[in-house]
Amino acid sequence: MMESKNNVCSVMEDDEMDVQVRETKAQSEQSNNNRTNWSNGQCVVAMPSCSMLNPSFDLSLCRAKLENDGFQIPEEDMEAPLKTALEVPSVRRYMVFNSALFHFLMAPVLYLVVWCAVFSTLHVFITVSDYWVLCLSVSLVSIFLTTAIIFILHCSNKEIDMNLDVRLIQVNERLVKHKLMVAVVDWVQSCTGNMQLSFVYWDMSRCLRALTETLEERSFVVNDTQNKLKKKMSHLALVTEETAVDLKVGGSDVEQDPDEQRPLLSQESAGSSTPSSPPEAAKVTTNYSLIPDQSLPAQAKAYQLLMTYSAAYVKLLVSQRLSGPTHHRLRPRRNHCTTAPLCLCQYIKKQILR
Ligand SMILES: [Zn+2]
Repeated sequence: MMESKNNVCSVMEDDEMDVQVRETKAQSEQSNNNRTNWSNGQCVVAMPSCSMLNPSFDLSLCRAKLENDGFQIPEEDMEAPLKTALEVPSVRRYMVFNSALFHFLMAPVLYLVVWCAVFSTLHVFITVSDYWVLCLSVSLVSIFLTTAIIFILHCSNKEIDMNLDVRLIQVNERLVKHKLMVAVVDWVQSCTGNMQLSFVYWDMSRCLRALTETLEERSFVVNDTQNKLKKKMSHLALVTEETAVDLKVGGSDVEQDPDEQRPLLSQESAGSSTPSSPPEAAKVTTNYSLIPDQSLPAQAKAYQLLMTYSAAYVKLLVSQRLSGPTHHRLRPRRNHCTTAPLCLCQYIKKQILR
């Protein structure tokens, strides 16, 4: 640091251009030094949601905090894809109704509804002399049913979420170049809901190498591996509605952002006086599967898998829901994360390749 400051001072007399170059060099050195202080899995920025009823995150504040920590990320790599992924009314509604707080509030309501339903059903068919015996048995059945439903919801929250985690894949594809990953995390603590956008430091190189090696080791059982991927990832399919024109013109852009990339007027209707929506027949439903193609090389497959599960992993990492031994010595070898029982590549191996 001192050296770089002295360097800047000595050159000031010579030339202004040189000074600027040196200053930017010093800044980048400083930011690199800041980055080297981070280790995989550390939360760099956690931005709480502005409101629980209309979840949104202050992205400009996120940017300021990240810059303060030495992460210079251009707008097209952060704000733009995050807005496309999260600032959609249907996604916001989903975030409210699928939040941990909503499930928490739903539990007593569900219990009452189940209690009334079971009581009214049993009351008709069974005549009991002791009224309290009926009430007790109805309560026990209601507790069991409510617990089972809450448990199913809790388990489904640990899986990859099609409406949030999958939408964040394209954001993480850009952020991973800056050694960051992002996810929407939410949990209930002291009867209050915590929903936040978490940016976690993650150097992907070691996980990519390890997962590529694993896939290469399995190269003699390619069909077996592919069957496992198909079995575990068959539900991960994106359905998009596109016009025939988009299919001809569009490439990968259509997949990332079908609404904004689509031209408002097709070439045929541009000249006509009535700007009508494209005819029904021109719309085509296309399925995009997230299963890596069998013909891809091992490294490309590994990269695709790491990106697909990045947001789901960060969600579990930050909310401390990754299952595994908590003690350092009991953790599996080659764990690339110091703060969790599993790193991203190990999570993928456990969830999909096992
Ligand atoms: Zn790893």
